[in-house]
Amino acid sequence: MTEVYSEKFGGNFTQQEPLPEAALEAAMAVLRHGRLHRYNLTPGEAGEVALLEQEFAAFVGAKFCLATSSGGSAIGLALRAVGVKPGDRVLTNAFTLAPVPGAIAALGAEPVFVEVTEDLVIDLDDLAAKAGEAGVLLLSHMRGHICDMERLMQICDAANVTVVEDCAHTMGARWNGVPSGRHGAVACYSTQTYKHMNSGEGGLLVSDDEDIAAKAVLLSGSYMLYERHLAAPSPEVFARHRMETPNISGRMDNLRAAILRPQLAELPRQIERWNARYRVVEEELRGTPGLTVVERPEAEHFVGSSIQFLLKGWSAEAVQGVIARCLRRGVELKWFGGADPVGFTSRYQHWRYAKTAPLARSDAILAGLMDMRLPLTFSLEDCGQIARIIRAEVGAVYQAG
Ligand SMILES: *Cc1c(COP(=O)(O)O)cnc(C)c1O
Repeated sequence: MTEVYSEKFGGNFTQQEPLPEAALEAAMAVLRHGRLHRYNLTPGEAGEVALLEQEFAAFVGAKFCLATSSGGSAIGLALRAVGVKPGDRVLTNAFTLAPVPGAIAALGAEPVFVEVTEDLVIDLDDLAAKAGEAGVLLLSHMRGHICDMERLMQICDAANVTVVEDCAHTMGARWNGVPSGRHGAVACYSTQTYKHMNSGEGGLLVSDDEDIAAKAVLLSGSYMLYERHLAAPSPEVFARHRMETPNISGRMDNLRAAILRPQLAELPRQIERWNARYRVVEEELRGTPGLTVVERPEAEHFVGSSIQFLLKGWSAEAVQGVIARCLRRGVELKWFGGADPVGFTSRYQHWRYAKTAPLARSDAILAGLMDMRLPLTFSLEDCGQIARIIRAEVGAVYQAG
């Protein structure tokens, strides 16, 4: 036992794996020919970006796909493409990351926050109550937790609410067999370093709606070269929108697409590796006194690239005690209850540009919400050790309290 209590973890919670060799080779080929701009093509050449769009559309089963400069830019393009205008109200999750309310604010629109449940998904009763207040829901599958999508779509369809999905944490996930991002009118993904594929920065947008897709392409800055796309609507659709749609720029380049295509081919295998790590941590944490594991529904095929647990009803001091004790033993926990935003971790009260009345249920949940990344550079043994440390330190603080 003494051995267990003294162990210290030496890994780095923000270290990604190196990119696959095939990505390095593809990147060198692009650098050697120098045609980095997506529309800079030789006769007969498709280009890495157009090929990535075609492959990602096939991966999720969408008709249309657009690669963008970031996940946040994909969300901004999607909101504009579905018609959000300055002054509009847009429903969104109270529990999400800053680029989500930020994309709404960038349009001069106003977020209407919907509460989070203990399962860490959007509260569908609160959504039903607020659905009449807006024409669009920007739904964030925050930390990879997917709500009952059939019920969500019923609520939104009944209230005539267009659904834009933020799938930054659900690329490769499914709900009842349907790929995440395929319920709403349009979905956005991120290929930023901390997501499921890594191009430093980058994003993808998918839709089956030809008008939304054409507008997104035009908005992204296609310079009337949209016929060079392989996963875009036909020229007749563009003809309806080409003179009406501003160029706000947000394209992906061939270098980033080149390193993403080999990663997309490996994504299903990577998801299995993430989930194996997730299950090791989850199993070890389950049954820890004072700690609540977030049970995942059977319909949800998630990607366990991070794990969350709840310290329900704990005081801020006790939570901070756990964080400090775990950190001394090399385990970095993030807390969504902090008074100040830290790194990527913030909550709705921190977004003062989007003033809102307090959300009592969300406050109670976020006050005890712990979050931890599970990079693929961690082995299964590392994950076991991390979870043992958390279990011991949560137990120690809980018993003392
Ligand atoms: C990362 C992220 C985004 C946006 O992605 P960027 O590529 O960083 O702009 C959107 N939503 C959530 C929940 C995210 O985590």
